Amino acid sequence: MSSLVEIAHNIERVRERIALACQSVGRSADEVTLVAVSKTMPIEVICQAMEAGITDLGENRVEEAVPKMRQLTDPRWHMIGHVQSRKAEDVVAAGFHLVHSLDSLKLAQRYDRFAKAAECVLPVLLEINVSGEASKEGWLAVGWEKDGAVRDNLWQWIEALLALPNLRIEGLMTMAPYETEPEATRSVFQDLARLREALRTSFKSLSWRHLSMGMTNDFEVAIQEGATIVRVGRAIFGERRIT
Ligand SMILES: *Cc1c(COP(=O)(O)O)cnc(C)c1O
Repeated sequence: MSSLVEIAHNIERVRERIALACQSVGRSADEVTLVAVSKTMPIEVICQAMEAGITDLGENRVEEAVPKMRQLTDPRWHMIGHVQSRKAEDVVAAGFHLVHSLDSLKLAQRYDRFAKAAECVLPVLLEINVSGEASKEGWLAVGWEKDGAVRDNLWQWIEALLALPNLRIEGLMTMAPYETEPEATRSVFQDLARLREALRTSFKSLSWRHLSMGMTNDFEVAIQEGATIVRVGRAIFGERRIT
């Protein structure tokens, strides 16, 4: 865990790196939202990040997020972690700015139901597993370009999601496999970007405006491949003691 001075410095450094990555491919830095991933970090540390200009915070467990969200109502909170369907109601009630991790129809149906009851619309990203190896999370879509069955399965899922009026799909999210060499993740990000283009063509009623990809290890590569949201924890807050 880092001190106030370190956190402010880390944020400045991450912002510089975002700007350079954008510059390298002719993008504008304000196309990229920096979500500071504050999981396991206490409120005081999160406040330091806010003092240093952070407006968006990411949490991966709803039980941990809710008390933080009650104390700090200014930032935009992002749910970035896997959600079990029995926690769907809590996620809807919490009032996240964006839920990045929608990965099943069952969860979507529960979100829709609870959002309807609360008379709100839940903004979501579809979490897609394009690499196969990264984790068990995300809708499995390895080889969607070549394998018709994988593609049909994914397209049918999205058709089913379109029937849920209290969800608003805003784009895609992925987690790349952990690599020590950031270049190794480039093909995963390219794959997700191509998938977004294919979905844009097939599902024209949706905006598909977000690509949430890139973490401490690989956010520059993700930005070069079109990320609109990067989720950065350790480069801002230092190493986590527990994960
Ligand atoms: C923890 C986490 C991050 C941030 O990872 P760092 O390596 O600390 O930058 C990003 N996305 C998700 C889904 C996470 O769980």
